[in-house]
Amino acid sequence: MAQDSARTKTLAQGKLPRLVTPLPGPNAKRVIEGDRQRLSPSYTRNYPLVAKRGFGAVVEDVDGNTFLDFTAGIAVVATGHCHPEVVAAVQRQAAELIHMSCTDFYSEGMVELAEKLESISPGSEPKRVYFGNSGTEAIEAAIKLARYHTGREKIIAFYGAFHGRTMGSLSLTASKAVQRTGFGTLLSGVFHAPYANPYCCPYGHAPCECCTDCAKFIERELFRTIVDPQEVAAIVVEPIQGEGGYLPRPPEFLRDLQRICRENGILLIADEVQSGMGRTGKWWAGDHAGIEPDILCVAKGIASGLPLSATIARSSVMNWGPGAHASTFGANPVAVAAALVTIRLLRDQYMENARRVGEYIFARLSPWRERFRTVGDVRGKGLMIGIEIVADQKTKEPAPGLRDAIENLAFSKGLLVLGAGANTIRLAPPLVIDEEQADFAIGVLEACIREAETLV
Ligand code: PLP
Repeated sequence: MAQDSARTKTLAQGKLPRLVTPLPGPNAKRVIEGDRQRLSPSYTRNYPLVAKRGFGAVVEDVDGNTFLDFTAGIAVVATGHCHPEVVAAVQRQAAELIHMSCTDFYSEGMVELAEKLESISPGSEPKRVYFGNSGTEAIEAAIKLARYHTGREKIIAFYGAFHGRTMGSLSLTASKAVQRTGFGTLLSGVFHAPYANPYCCPYGHAPCECCTDCAKFIERELFRTIVDPQEVAAIVVEPIQGEGGYLPRPPEFLRDLQRICRENGILLIADEVQSGMGRTGKWWAGDHAGIEPDILCVAKGIASGLPLSATIARSSVMNWGPGAHASTFGANPVAVAAALVTIRLLRDQYMENARRVGEYIFARLSPWRERFRTVGDVRGKGLMIGIEIVADQKTKEPAPGLRDAIENLAFSKGLLVLGAGANTIRLAPPLVIDEEQADFAIGVLEACIREAETLV
């Protein structure tokens, strides 16, 4: 125990990684073998990281190797791993009350958190909040609420979208076929539209036309040919597509969606599960376009790693009655305590840090299209940055194998990154990183891309 806390202190002093064994080390190998034998084979494993402890943006594995974490546990630990103030709040709350169930009993923390979320949500109308435990639950609640409130059934989502893996949210997800294959009939009445992508327009148009055409597709094609807008309950959109490849949307696209919704009595649902909680330098990625969604779905970064999600809706929209929707564990007091501290830390320091360091990284990555023949696009906002890896810059042919090779090389050099979409490297570090850590990550990635380019 004493040894463990001494180790955590040492970790807190180091900002950059240090490898002390070949990867994976002996302890990691043992765990990986157990994982292979005992765990669901549905989990993806990109490289053999077996994390034991973390502090800030540094993670230590079971063999004492440390890594710089540019994944934040898939965009979750916004305030860094084990932020001392989050840990203290969690410990305090765990010693006082771990669970009572907010489905049936009142909770002070829940009310306080709902107030805080309202204060940072776009739009002036009062809000109500439903709490769940995961991103997919936030989306399920949004789907049910949209149907309940409008009395309509149909939903429009976008190609490339990822909204979760339970049957309702999976019906909206259109990111990778493997995520839907074998699971039978999903929710009926879900339609997918193209998602504006100025780098690689689904219609082959120039960037400025791309966004308007994709929004117009809904009016010109969907509404005319297969779905009456009067039957549509909601349009669900990620203001920056996450799993689809870290694709920020032109603001016009999002504003057009809002207009279409308002004109047809459709609810606009913004899925900010990955892009929200300050990651882009503002509370919500949609804030960059000035949109005011009717329902906002939040999870991942909300509680610095504790399971919590929120479905925030205009009060007049959240009009379902007692018993209509709930979850035993939603708004667990320990997670709520972590979220209250997380919001304060993001507001006081880290959201601005995400904006500043994000701009710094972006400025350094922007010339990469000229420097590397396999870098097709660099894009993002704040600390949500994607680097698209291509076989050919002219044809923009995706190079997923090369992207995976870069990801693995980065791991071997002490940098943790993940892919997004077919061929994009995602940079989603904790929002606490500084320029020195950014420089390290950029240096490693440069070396990895150069090395990977020799392989093709
Ligand atoms: N929505 C978005 C935009 C996501 O990125 C994710 C997860 O990656 C989800 C929903 C689902 O979240 P969870 O995995 O917590 O269910």
